[in-house]
Amino acid sequence: MDRFVELGVLPVRHKSARGYRPHLSLMFNPGSPRTFSIDSTLAGGSDAYLVTHAHSDHYGSSVMRSEKSVCSSQTAAALEIIHGKRYCGRVFETGSSIDIYGVTVKTFTTAHTPGAAAFYWENEVGTRILVTGDIKDAGALPQCDVLVTEASYGDPDDPACHFTDDLDGFREAISDDAAFGAYTFGKAQRAVGLLRAGGYCDKVHMDRTSLELTRRLMSDVEPLDGLGDGLCIVPPGELSALPHRSKYVLTARRDYPFRKINISDHMDVNGLVDMVKKCSPEAVLVYHPKGTRARKFASHLNRTGTFALSLEDIPTIMPG
Ligand SMILES: [Zn+2]
Repeated sequence: MDRFVELGVLPVRHKSARGYRPHLSLMFNPGSPRTFSIDSTLAGGSDAYLVTHAHSDHYGSSVMRSEKSVCSSQTAAALEIIHGKRYCGRVFETGSSIDIYGVTVKTFTTAHTPGAAAFYWENEVGTRILVTGDIKDAGALPQCDVLVTEASYGDPDDPACHFTDDLDGFREAISDDAAFGAYTFGKAQRAVGLLRAGGYCDKVHMDRTSLELTRRLMSDVEPLDGLGDGLCIVPPGELSALPHRSKYVLTARRDYPFRKINISDHMDVNGLVDMVKKCSPEAVLVYHPKGTRARKFASHLNRTGTFALSLEDIPTIMPG
């Protein structure tokens, strides 16, 4: 922890009677103390709840009612559609800056989902702090001193963490009799974007939620329609019920009974390593996902010369 303290940043986890709260808070600026919580549920003492994107394992739903929440306008729109309630926090356009209690926070796209954003600010001793959330493309990210990032595919010894997107396989699978399994938020919009970028101009049929999210979050992707004859995109669990002759799941995972086409919303472990090199931090905190991959990625960074911790290494704040 000393390395983080030297840089003027104290990452902490919160624990309640029910166990650890998700993710973490960053405390900084001892002269005028600030605490920003990252992809967490509501926790006492936070000045802001930064929501990187609208996937449920980043807990935007639970902070929707707080005026201290901060997310991109697209993330707010996605949260409202997915959870059917009003988002009460502040919004920004990804790529712009937002003032949070006198701290200027810059935002950058991570291309993980529509509206997914990284947050960047400096503390009072000039430490540059970057929080990425889940990430597909690090191209927009700046250099930093403290990097808080994910490792969904961060285990260098696991073959499943080494992949490239199978864009050719996706292109070859496109037909009017094809149905693609894709999560309603994120993957479904990526699939529509790839179809249109590849010149597919026919109608794309989608389940109701995917269709609503796609129309709200993307532009220039019509014609779209509800389920019917022709190319379909539905959640993987709804593929079986469709009459289509060819069925695929767009995923880097290996646990579906349909042909898999490797299209991921994440970078693989090589991409994560390259991102760390590009951002050249003095200290890294790997905060996501649950399980062993965050710890394994932190261990890999330490072995290769970059100081890194994962969530189990940082202090815990117990209930009052
Ligand atoms: Zn995600």
